[in-house]
Amino acid sequence: MLDTNTDGVDQRVSTGELPSWQRIDERVTEAYERNVADEGGRVADYIPELAAVDPSQFGICVADVGGGLHSAGDADVEFTIQSVSKAFVYALVCAEFGHDEVGRLVGVNNTGLAFNSVMAIELNDGHPMNPMVNAGAIATTALMPGATLAEKWENVRTGLSEFAGRQLTMDGDVYRSESETNTRNEAIAKLLKSYGRVTGDSTGLVDIYTRQCSLRVTAQDLAIMGATLADGGVNPVTKQRVVSPIVCRDTLAVLATSGLYERSGEWMFEIGLPGKSGVSGGIVTVAPGKGALGAFSPRLDSAGNSVRGQKATAALSRSLGLNIFASDSEGDRHDV
Ligand code: GLU
Repeated sequence: MLDTNTDGVDQRVSTGELPSWQRIDERVTEAYERNVADEGGRVADYIPELAAVDPSQFGICVADVGGGLHSAGDADVEFTIQSVSKAFVYALVCAEFGHDEVGRLVGVNNTGLAFNSVMAIELNDGHPMNPMVNAGAIATTALMPGATLAEKWENVRTGLSEFAGRQLTMDGDVYRSESETNTRNEAIAKLLKSYGRVTGDSTGLVDIYTRQCSLRVTAQDLAIMGATLADGGVNPVTKQRVVSPIVCRDTLAVLATSGLYERSGEWMFEIGLPGKSGVSGGIVTVAPGKGALGAFSPRLDSAGNSVRGQKATAALSRSLGLNIFASDSEGDRHDV
């Protein structure tokens, strides 16, 4: 880990303001209408049950840190959370172990390789490197508190439910479908075990990870979950504290470098915000201190990122002034 020696330095925040309620509503509708007719990309089919989804579904929702919700399209349609879960399980594990220990045990660097790469483990002496792709995510799930696998699973489910502000349940059909075709993730877990990176029942561990990926959410849930990370760890709808501000900061830093698979650099260049996508077509994008965007559209690009989800998010990042790298010498950021 980088030695930055900031012990004892006062931590200040860097945030801005969203446009007015009506302006957000208009921009969300506009981002939906601009992209609804786009049929680019293909639905994931390596998990058979995912291929059965209606590809025309498209929903977006912005949740602001005041608890306001701004939706368009199929924002209340449920789908399985898949890899987006990695962001929130990572936050729960950071809350349990803290910054230094999670950095040491899992790592925070982008592998530059596909989400289910075995080579990424081998190239790094068995170190998983990146909690946002399968090896690092399985190693992260292994760190969840709980004396038994069943307890760990319950802590994953209840922890993610607190982020969403409602009880999340599992999609049994997708869970069974992925469990029947999960050989590669089982191989990854066994390889991590061979390097001593995880201990115990690696098949049981992959089972929890598969359950985690099979939790049902909506685009609105993702927006609220993301807005909790944007709001220093307090769910802006339920007002419940889920994690600390430091955990949010650490989690968003990892999403910024690794949230969109091997396209994370392009994503940052176009959208300029931490985000996390999943193969069922969900994307959560977080504007620290302002709010978050949940998007759902099942057709994916070749890296596994929702095509319309990315386009709608890019439009909103621009029109709502969310890109964390954007500034203007004219100072028109106040003109909202
Ligand atoms: N459950 C999926 C897998 O492990 C998640 C993949 C993803 O969304 O990137 O293959």
